[in-house]
Amino acid sequence: MRWKTLDDMELKDRTVLVRVDINVPVEAGHVTDATRIEKIVPTISDILKAGGRPVLLAHFGRPKGEVVPEMSLRITLPALERALGRKVIFAEDCIGAPAKKAVAEMQPGDVVLLENTRFHKGEEKNDPVLAASMAALGQVYVNDAFSAAHRAHASTEGIAKLMPSCAGRLMEAELRALNAALGDPARPVAAVVGGAKVSTKLDLLGNLVAKVDHLIIGGGMANTFLVAQGIAVGKSLAEHEMAETARAILARASEAGCSLHLPTDVVVARDFAAGAAHEVVAADACPADAMILDAGPQTVAAIGTVFEACRTLIWNGPLGAFEIAPFDAATNAAARKAAELTKAGRLVSVAGGGDTVAALNKAGAAADFTYISTAGGAFLEWMEGKDLPGVAVLMQ
Ligand code: ADP
Ligand code: MG
Repeated sequence: MRWKTLDDMELKDRTVLVRVDINVPVEAGHVTDATRIEKIVPTISDILKAGGRPVLLAHFGRPKGEVVPEMSLRITLPALERALGRKVIFAEDCIGAPAKKAVAEMQPGDVVLLENTRFHKGEEKNDPVLAASMAALGQVYVNDAFSAAHRAHASTEGIAKLMPSCAGRLMEAELRALNAALGDPARPVAAVVGGAKVSTKLDLLGNLVAKVDHLIIGGGMANTFLVAQGIAVGKSLAEHEMAETARAILARASEAGCSLHLPTDVVVARDFAAGAAHEVVAADACPADAMILDAGPQTVAAIGTVFEACRTLIWNGPLGAFEIAPFDAATNAAARKAAELTKAGRLVSVAGGGDTVAALNKAGAAADFTYISTAGGAFLEWMEGKDLPGVAVLMQ
């Protein structure tokens, strides 16, 4: 994998169109979490330092090609100005007269934010005319929105074909981390795949069995694998109709030389509630009236042994119903083990997924992971081995 970065581009006195993800949560007219805005600061600062004029392209919400005033990016201006420590000029449209005027009037050190790209129908259709209108505003294109890179839209893909393009700092960090985890990883590689259902992660499992040395299955989806082996799981969440598919994955893993690890002991309860009465039983001994809500201590110890033997770890999906104690125990313990090994320099650990990020934060382990991706759908598609159009177009 090879992509251009800001360091490869001539930026001095150029207008630099930067696709960012500032699709931040908003309540009552205020940004409630500016994390995404703070993360684009290095890219914009570096463009300014190199003498470039940054013009930001972004989407906000799902206006579906209509001008929806509540989805105006104007709402992000105060948070953006605070993060950048400078005034940001807003243009009422991402193309046409308002955009051209704002760009033409830029002074050195200015930053321009263009209105929501999704106010135009052509954005999600990757309309070449819209892409060309945006491209005409500048001389260089920088994509810093990995989280939007799984979509071939005019501002993420179409535009990059029309002008010199590169990855921004955030995109660069994400690509480097992902490449270190699955592209060209230090071996052995372990993957943890947990979460609720096998059916939502079929492509993921299919890709991973061919690429990793150890596949650790946890969460509700492990129950489906137990069912596939003829084990009764009582009232546990399990997709009985996926048993055949699970058996096919087991077979593919063994052909590919991937060791697949399922829980050997589990935590069961009669109620799915905080502090519910619970017990640890062997994985094949779930009582008929109980449900499996977490992996047991023996399984956690075995996972720790796998982590110790590996040099790279990639993680998506919690090992149990982590939202409710004590069913967060296995996820917490395994996460802390991975964090400890990472901190000691023995493991490269990369994780992503909405609930996974929440679970690793809850475990207090996130800060010590090598990289935590907050890219959601883009991270999952990348883990599934799919080409991300917004990334592919940056490759030379
Ligand atoms: P991510 O968002 O990180 O991709 P998922 O959405 O696939 O993760 O899975 C997270 C969900 O799986 C959580 O809501 C968790 O409670 C649920 N889950 C995990 N293990 C179990 C289990 N044994 N029984 C029921 N739900 C479970
Ligand atoms: Mg989820």
